[in-house]
Amino acid sequence: MDLLTANDRPGHYPDSYYAATAPLLDAFPPAASLPQEARRADVAIVGAGYAGLSAALCLAEAGYDVIVLEANRVGAGASGRNGGQVGPGQRVDQVSLEGMVGASKARALWQVGLSALEEVTSRCATHHIDAEWQPGVIEAAHRPRFVSEFEEYAAHMGQHYGHELEVLDREGIQAHVGSPGYHGGLLDRQAGHLHPLKYLLGLARAAVAAGVRIHEGSRVLDITPGTGVQLEGADIAASHVLVCANGYLGSLLPGPAARTMPINNFIAATEPLSPDFARSLIRDNHAVADTRFVINYFRLSQDLRMLFGGGESYGWTFPRDIAAKVRRPMLEVYPQLADTRIDYAWGGTLGITMSRLPHFTRVGKDVLSVGGFSGHGVALATLAGRMAAEAIRGQAERFDLMASLPTPRFPGGRALRHPLLVAGMVWYALRDKL
Ligand SMILES: Cc1cc2nc3c(=O)[nH]c(=O)nc-3n(C[C@H](O)[C@H](O)[C@H](O)COP(=O)(O)OP(=O)(O)OC[C@H]3O[C@@H](n4cnc5c(N)ncnc54)[C@H](O)[C@@H]3O)c2cc1C
Repeated sequence: MDLLTANDRPGHYPDSYYAATAPLLDAFPPAASLPQEARRADVAIVGAGYAGLSAALCLAEAGYDVIVLEANRVGAGASGRNGGQVGPGQRVDQVSLEGMVGASKARALWQVGLSALEEVTSRCATHHIDAEWQPGVIEAAHRPRFVSEFEEYAAHMGQHYGHELEVLDREGIQAHVGSPGYHGGLLDRQAGHLHPLKYLLGLARAAVAAGVRIHEGSRVLDITPGTGVQLEGADIAASHVLVCANGYLGSLLPGPAARTMPINNFIAATEPLSPDFARSLIRDNHAVADTRFVINYFRLSQDLRMLFGGGESYGWTFPRDIAAKVRRPMLEVYPQLADTRIDYAWGGTLGITMSRLPHFTRVGKDVLSVGGFSGHGVALATLAGRMAAEAIRGQAERFDLMASLPTPRFPGGRALRHPLLVAGMVWYALRDKL
């Protein structure tokens, strides 16, 4: 099954609230239309999501000639369809990270996470990208025991990282989130949420202004290290190749593919709500993500729709009725939305790793790959692009730090790993209900 085409019409964005409300760019010509003499660059980048465009922008700013090759449209992957929640740090919490990689590396990774957040806000400021940034993300506890864990975690983050987190008790979370299902929460005011496709298109505009050549409808079929990339109807010569294909990597690079598993996740956007109703669901316009293994994550859009993410699928194809799939968890959290219409529902594919830490690697001579952001890539993939650009320019400290993180192969090889993942995921999803 080919995830680049399984669920999408090539050349079209999904029918998402984001695509309906972002200032879409005119189509970029395919690489196959380039004259022979233009089929070369210093760096060829595969994939026009946050990682690919951020790397392209950094390299062009440093004077490199860069071509970005995108199979579909810019931001048609996870970057243009996600939940828009932007947190500091990694997908894995700092206490678990300390256990995985030791205190000193965990500290370095926290700094990386802070830089990632800054990268997003400074790109928006520098390039005048109105991505509708709103501060505040709440983690909501679906079990009482998580509240005491939140207290310990907030104390740890304050003491060891100087990072302030506000613990919400039952009354506190009920004041913020009008759902009967939560026992407490953890509010991070430094985190926030944005319109993911507006942010992505802003990066694409900035990249073009810096001289990057973007080609849509340009699927890379093969890579020859040190030489360039092969597409249908065009070869592009480039001394460096950077692969930023994330959940859509397929079999392009077998090494990273064995460590990055694609999974699908779904979002629905309701009709616009009245201001009073909207504020009764989320009082201060923060984003919310809960503690379930199959996470529910939700926030209000600028025009006061509930944007609700929930429900995963581990088969390759999206369910036929995505709205019905998301409606179920949405009504479990907010029964009061029972009579509210869903105007948009869409799915997206993301890359996860076994450790939930991103996978950075060098594949052969001058071929780099970044991906596996495990549902935490708005900021991290943006910074990953900068770190890959630094490595191409010969300053690889931050890239090497990320490349040293444990991202084991999924068990079972290519044939078995998917059924095993499904079995594991279904078990954990069941535990959410217990
Ligand atoms: C439904 C959903 C909700 C999410 N919610 C959040 C959230 O709230 N917060 C958060 O931080 N993260 C979230 N994520 C994850 C986040 O969106 C990703 O981590 C991030 O967008 C990854 O960016 P990327 O550039 O690595 O990959 P992508 O944006 O997926 O880009 C990869 C691109 O590569 C292209 N491509 C692949 N193969 C080829 C090829 N052979 N030739 C040419 N082009 C190719 C694809 O078409 C695609 O455009 C979510 C993801 C999904 C799907």
